[in-house]
Amino acid sequence: MRLLIVSNRLPLNGVQKDGKLHFEQSAGGLVSGLSSYLDSLKSSSAQDVEYVWIGWPGITVQDKLQTEVKNVLVDLHASPVFLSEKAMEKFYLGFCNKIIWPLFHYFPYNTIYDKDYWLQYQEVNKIFRDAVLEVIKPGDVIWVHDYHLMLLPALLREKLPQTPIGFFLHIPFPAFELYRLLPTAWGQEILRGLLGANLIGFHTQEYAQYFLRSVQRILGYGHRLGHILFQSHAVKVDTFPMGIDYQRYHSTPTGSEFGQNLNELEQLLDGYKAVLSVDRLDYSKGISHRLQGYKLFLEDNPQWREQVVLLMIVVPSRIGVEHYQLMKRKIDELVGEINGRFGTLNWTPIIYQYKFLPLDSLLAMYRQSDVALITPLRDGMNLVAKEYVAARTDQTGVLILSEMAGAAKELGEALIVNPNNIEAIAEALQQALTMPETEQIRRNQVMQQRLKGNDVVRWSGNFIQKLLQLQKEQFRAL
Ligand code: UDP
Repeated sequence: MRLLIVSNRLPLNGVQKDGKLHFEQSAGGLVSGLSSYLDSLKSSSAQDVEYVWIGWPGITVQDKLQTEVKNVLVDLHASPVFLSEKAMEKFYLGFCNKIIWPLFHYFPYNTIYDKDYWLQYQEVNKIFRDAVLEVIKPGDVIWVHDYHLMLLPALLREKLPQTPIGFFLHIPFPAFELYRLLPTAWGQEILRGLLGANLIGFHTQEYAQYFLRSVQRILGYGHRLGHILFQSHAVKVDTFPMGIDYQRYHSTPTGSEFGQNLNELEQLLDGYKAVLSVDRLDYSKGISHRLQGYKLFLEDNPQWREQVVLLMIVVPSRIGVEHYQLMKRKIDELVGEINGRFGTLNWTPIIYQYKFLPLDSLLAMYRQSDVALITPLRDGMNLVAKEYVAARTDQTGVLILSEMAGAAKELGEALIVNPNNIEAIAEALQQALTMPETEQIRRNQVMQQRLKGNDVVRWSGNFIQKLLQLQKEQFRAL
């Protein structure tokens, strides 16, 4: 079997070194999960299992270098889709991040319905179709990922009527009332695009239900237990909550870097309780609500001043989109205000870093933080919440989690809050910081078992198995 994984970006980082292009594998959860799953399949069956990842290489490559890049990437199981800067601007920054991202995260007022973005989205999905058709061989299975490529399953289906095609959406699918805000023709074409797949996966049952409802209201197709007969093929809509690479967060890295990070943090946080906040810079993450919650907590609980530190990591993201620049300014101001108002000569209430942290540093933060405060206003899953729980090898630590994150469905033992309720965030902080250790352990034990049992290897396995099973059933029925 050969699996073609199609996503907007290849899991690679391209860097210019000595005037030459080099590519390194970036170690995302999806990559390591899929490769571990495929390795396990290889060892447990006589089958030869391979995969090829198809996507944009992360940089614009000049025409004359494209063949060379293609050849280099073959050894990394990757096949590049080259996109011009202009196309990326309207497709990625435009349609994906100014229309789909805000609308699907319940920010309709951040949405800019620009027709040029839509035309470019259609165009880029066709470019991806051609890239898949260039590498596909008989017997291949296709797995398309995420909101950048929602038209691709149907574009492929037209050319490949027998090929198993799966699609997984990593962000929320919104309620019908939100979805219908898309201009009708766009909304219809996206649903038809998705229905080109045999299997459509979502993180939660709610997202799957919302999708089925939109299909019914907009296209008029009903379903039976998530099965839809669409044109000439059967489609199954199902739930696959994405897991993490549990062992990666639960075990201790052997390199000296991790130990050094841990020691530095231990010294920095000595004598304080640490509350951790980690997100990409994004309005869906509720960072300013969280800061307001912390501010209220310090106002209401003077006994905690000089006893607690908020470690706040914000990862730069989508720098070219205006809403993000405004938000960065707002966060900077709030941090300044809180540190200015409550800070003393010996104590800074918020330690704020605006940068991406490599795994070793992030893991050290998970290990050294007594509380993780994760309060998105909307989030498809939120892997950071799961990683924090997995990283607590002594099983202490308290997770405060927004009910608007997909992860809340699986992490009911966390302190669950509504992120719009600033008082609830402040109260949860108080409760977390005073929670007896036995109770922390009792809650984390249950969550760890669950996360270990449904890690990313199991997640990818479940999806692919289901896709193959559906294909068999379809042929049996013919
Ligand atoms: N992450 C990281 N370094 C950082 C911050 C985050 O490697 O400084 C990783 C984190 O470990 C997690 C991912 O980025 O795996 C973020 O995933 P999540 O689902 O929480 O949010 P997203 O950014 O996908 O919306």
